[in-house]
Amino acid sequence: MSNVVSLFDDTEKYEERPVVVLADDDPSIRLMIRHVLESEDFDIVEAADGIEAIKAVEKHHPALVLLDAVMPGIDGFTTCKQLKDNGHKDVPVMMITGLDDDVSVERAYDVGAIDFITKPIKWAVLKHRVRSVVAAVVAERKVQLLAYRDTLTNLPNRLLFADRLEHSIERAARHRDSLALLLVDMDDFKLVNDSFGHEAGDKLIQAVGKLLSRSLRRADTVARLGGDEFAVIVEGIDGYDDAISIADNLSTILEHNVRLDDQETFTGASIGIAIYPEDGDDARTLLKNADTAMFRAKENGRHCFQFYKPEMSVNAMERLELENSMRKAMEEEQFVIHYQPTIDIHKNEIIGVEALLRWEHPEKGIIKPNDFIPLAEDCGLIVPMGEWTIRTAAKQLKLWQSEGLENQNVSINLSPRQFRDMDLVALFKEVIHENDLDASSFAVEITEGTLIDNMGDVEASLNILSNMGMTIALDDFGTGFASLAYLKDFPVNIVKIDRRFVEGTPDSRENTAIVEAIAGLTRGLKLRLLAEGIENDRQLQMLKGLGCQLGQGFYWSKALPADQYEQFYLNRQYSIG
Ligand code: C2E
Ligand code: MG
Ligand code: MG
Repeated sequence: MSNVVSLFDDTEKYEERPVVVLADDDPSIRLMIRHVLESEDFDIVEAADGIEAIKAVEKHHPALVLLDAVMPGIDGFTTCKQLKDNGHKDVPVMMITGLDDDVSVERAYDVGAIDFITKPIKWAVLKHRVRSVVAAVVAERKVQLLAYRDTLTNLPNRLLFADRLEHSIERAARHRDSLALLLVDMDDFKLVNDSFGHEAGDKLIQAVGKLLSRSLRRADTVARLGGDEFAVIVEGIDGYDDAISIADNLSTILEHNVRLDDQETFTGASIGIAIYPEDGDDARTLLKNADTAMFRAKENGRHCFQFYKPEMSVNAMERLELENSMRKAMEEEQFVIHYQPTIDIHKNEIIGVEALLRWEHPEKGIIKPNDFIPLAEDCGLIVPMGEWTIRTAAKQLKLWQSEGLENQNVSINLSPRQFRDMDLVALFKEVIHENDLDASSFAVEITEGTLIDNMGDVEASLNILSNMGMTIALDDFGTGFASLAYLKDFPVNIVKIDRRFVEGTPDSRENTAIVEAIAGLTRGLKLRLLAEGIENDRQLQMLKGLGCQLGQGFYWSKALPADQYEQFYLNRQYSIG
């Protein structure tokens, strides 16, 4: 628990006297310079070579570095260049050189030195120059501190943060990189202030600032935007996985390591995340969207993180209207299920159907699920809607079985909230019992997001459903986090590769490569692969060639109302003969 920051621990003091780092391999020169500068109001940190100098700069953030040009190991020029490349552009470097030739002087300036002193050193000149540079740096830093720093935490304030975010975005755009913006808002901060007083509140904020800074890389920006809100910029992230592990780490650290006294674990945070460029390509949009996500995290019960999703921004009026008409539609039974066959592409046999919701709107006609499911998920209506779907699909399945349609399975799409807000396992047990069906006639489809959120312990529920004999399919694979790392903990049997990747194959080289990669991954994990959205024979042949076993798509049939599906099934039986 070395990371624990006690709120009443004041040991870490900010260095008040400016530091000068002095790097020279000759101890006698170091001694002389130290002697000459002794009377000045700053501390001297000695380094015997370039590596030591870099370490000292990292540690002390000096007001000046004096670098001997010729040292064993890396020389002064290289050291200077590395310092500048490593983000210490604001630390002035003065070269000490015996090489009083034009080339060396030129080189010193080239690598970013502001000045140079020639050997043999004229001590009075040295003293004068050092004093004036340090004074300038100290003055500049003071101004910066006042204008751009938050006085309580010494972190960048909102102003400096805005500037850093702009720069980070520019850099990301240039390198075609991603970055994550995390807004971290303390939970129950008001409670600390109210019950322990403002002084404790201030200490809490300071502790959080320290923890955040320590938990991230030097290059990342941590800022305090005000109150109990912090912002973090992480550049060069490699997909959502990276952002997830950072957010996860921060939320764990904040929950476990900030204490008000020795016994009490006190605080936690809600984190909203927006990713550049997906969630916005300018600072304003990214901030707005991270903020929206943060509020959603608060709503979802705090102490958690939440990625921004576009549907969070649907305007409030539209939302309310849609929500009301959806509730009405539930009462008036305007929802129907269409069924799309799933095919074993090697045996050319139907193995089951996927249940897909449709809204038969009296005025607007048929509304597709993508236009209402996200909101239903948001407002919780997905729970009764999902229950209705499971019950209706089960009854239909029973009917088909009694009519002699063999080998029918039905696959049900599930949303995360259905795991959190209801007892799914009990519902499936009840429905299976009621209709006298076999659990193995059911499959559930979940997305990676559901696994990652793991709300209401998705893992435990899936394990029970799987043990009952149900098939677990991972839907829309490739569109979310595309990380199979999560899979090994979950009882997944089938991976459904999203139709976006099947689209355009085999002509689209990019999509073909993605499909190939996913086929390879699933083969390694001994999972069955189902390709969605197969529309033509060329796609089918390619997928077959890659060892994909199952398929779904307009090539065979779109999703059909129950009676039409029955016709499709029977016709096919005849045609296969
Ligand atoms: P999904 O589960 O990935 O379903 C596949 C979607 O692809 C369906 O769209 C289907 O009609 C469409 N599709 C299938 N084959 C082809 C093809 O060859 N070409 C093209 N262009 N499209 C094809 P649909 O029915 O609009 O469903 C969209 C999404 O809505 C579903 O994606 C699923 O995530 C969600 N959804 C549908 N019903 C439910 C439900 O009962 N509960 C939940 N939670 N989500 C549902
Ligand atoms: Mg599906
Ligand atoms: Mg899908």
